[in-house]
Amino acid sequence: AYEFSKFGRQLGCGSGIEELMDDLGHALASGGANVKMLGGGQPARIPEMNAVWRRRLEELMEESGGLERTLTSYDPPRGNPRFLEAIAGIFRDQFGWNITADNVAVTAGGQTAFYFLFNLLAGQMPDGSSKKILLPLVPEYIGYANQGMSGDLFRACTPTIEKTGPHEFKYRVDFDNLKVDSDVAAICASRPTNPTGNVMTDQEVARLSELAKANNIPLIIDNAYGAPFPSIIFTDATPFWDEHVILTFSLSKIGLPGSRTGIVIGPPEVIRALGSMSAIAGLSNPSTGQQIVLPLIESGEILKLSQEVVRPFYEEKCKLARRAAEEAFGDEVEWFMHRSEGALFLWLWFPDLPITSRELYERLKKREVLVIPGAPFFFGHSDDSWRHRDECIRVSYAMDEEIVRDGLRIIAEEVKKAWKAV
Ligand code: PLP
Repeated sequence: AYEFSKFGRQLGCGSGIEELMDDLGHALASGGANVKMLGGGQPARIPEMNAVWRRRLEELMEESGGLERTLTSYDPPRGNPRFLEAIAGIFRDQFGWNITADNVAVTAGGQTAFYFLFNLLAGQMPDGSSKKILLPLVPEYIGYANQGMSGDLFRACTPTIEKTGPHEFKYRVDFDNLKVDSDVAAICASRPTNPTGNVMTDQEVARLSELAKANNIPLIIDNAYGAPFPSIIFTDATPFWDEHVILTFSLSKIGLPGSRTGIVIGPPEVIRALGSMSAIAGLSNPSTGQQIVLPLIESGEILKLSQEVVRPFYEEKCKLARRAAEEAFGDEVEWFMHRSEGALFLWLWFPDLPITSRELYERLKKREVLVIPGAPFFFGHSDDSWRHRDECIRVSYAMDEEIVRDGLRIIAEEVKKAWKAV
């Protein structure tokens, strides 16, 4: 056997999340037509959006030079120059932000943006010290968890839990206990949050921004589901930017996950570094997504599609899923759902559940319902006494309504069964 480097061991030898994703994939492949796939982060296929992608591909094929721009040339490592201009333009026009193309970089999906950003800012420093990314709230996006090239990168703060209804709660940043120690390289949060559907309030974002600024570190906000595209966000939340803020966006959740297009807005020095990293890791980024959406960004059509097609599509699905959960669980057992403010998921919490969420996940898998157990979303959080971490599951509602409804019914049956066995 070959000996792997430290880097190889960190990234090339599997991870909890890979295991889980693999498990989901295999269960799906071996299961029959009855498998209720409520596990993955696959966005829905929205017919109106697919029609737009089809139209755009046809336009590119017809347009002189369209095919060549889309498929037959390398873009500069930081992204197609006209695309970078268009992105800066839409944010200037929409929000009045003082940014230019020098504030914009493209990456191979949002996932790669985070891999680069986290390892750019945190980990082993030149003076031998080691720096961390501070998560002001957990649970947080599981895809960040294993990205550190030199080991664990994260430090997470326990949120406060506010009960906002008989079966509803919301996590809030616990500013009283949020400390930015000298080894914190950046603060990072997704908004809306995967897995909970939480949307940090404008006030929370403003306070995090002040905290970051006062400590001379960046605040990273992941807008994979956020405004202005795809805008899978059901509350009032103002997009936020400042000179020390790094924003990431993605074309995945508007319907182009296969195009692998991530977009970063940030300080020019960070943006230049991302371009260098793209050149080394991949020469250049996938150009198809950029070429498909370019005129939609230049004309502003992407905003209209987000507001009038994508957001209402998910808002309706979310409403149906919440209603289905209420019908399935009733008042027989204690259960809570995170207030659904965006993204594609219901985050269910079963206080004092007699089995762990991992066990619940296994039992559900036997019944052909695939969800994601909650514990892995609490990475970077070291308080083992916080049982809440084992009491939650994530359920996607991007699938067909009937599948979501049947899945929730079976989840409720298994939760009730677990309580009856006590
Ligand atoms: N950030 C969040 C919160 C996500 O949920 C995802 C994907 O599910 C990503 C980033 C990365 O998405 P992509 O690499 O497809 O842009």
